[in-house]
Amino acid sequence: MPMRFSKVLRILSQPLNRPAFAITTAASSQSFRRPPPRVSSTTVLQAASSISFLSSFFGSSAKAQSTDDSMSYPDKRNDDEWRAVLSPEQFRVIREKGTERPGTGEYDSHYPSQGVYTCAACNAPLYTASHKFKSGCGWPAYFDSIPGAVTRHTDKAFGMDRTEIVCSNCGGHLGHVFKGEGFPTPTDERHCVNSVSLNFKEDEEAKA
Ligand SMILES: [Zn+2]
Repeated sequence: MPMRFSKVLRILSQPLNRPAFAITTAASSQSFRRPPPRVSSTTVLQAASSISFLSSFFGSSAKAQSTDDSMSYPDKRNDDEWRAVLSPEQFRVIREKGTERPGTGEYDSHYPSQGVYTCAACNAPLYTASHKFKSGCGWPAYFDSIPGAVTRHTDKAFGMDRTEIVCSNCGGHLGHVFKGEGFPTPTDERHCVNSVSLNFKEDEEAKA
């Protein structure tokens, strides 16, 4: 599958995950098996939209074909397995890259003197209490993470060029990192993290 095509497919697949069962027809099956004859952007979009319905229907096989980055993390649980352990809101934020409403999160105004923030999905330690600072942005803010715990990706969604951060162990979405905002921290970076992506363990020491 050409790069550009799989990218379009991935983007279109995201919001179309739910009503796949009713929409799958023999016609869309055929177009799935037949490669697009010409790579005009119209053809790509048409093919991609019919495949995106199928990709939700044949969830796991479609995922294996795409370059889904969840496959490259040590914790490779699939969506069904994540749904079994996450709340619907956690699933929306962590697995579907959603964002909680600002000022509503459990850890937004949470400034313990010690302890570790872990991934709410897989329990990997991500941040220590000493990384956290008051940003006033409405989400928990950290100027750094436990080394290697957080992986960065370029996120071009919504016409912006942002740096997404995910848990290095399970690929779960945490939030975004912003640089050069002038906060008086050692890094001048702000890891803007959804509270729902985190748990807090007061008695745990970071192994950093
Ligand atoms: Zn994780």
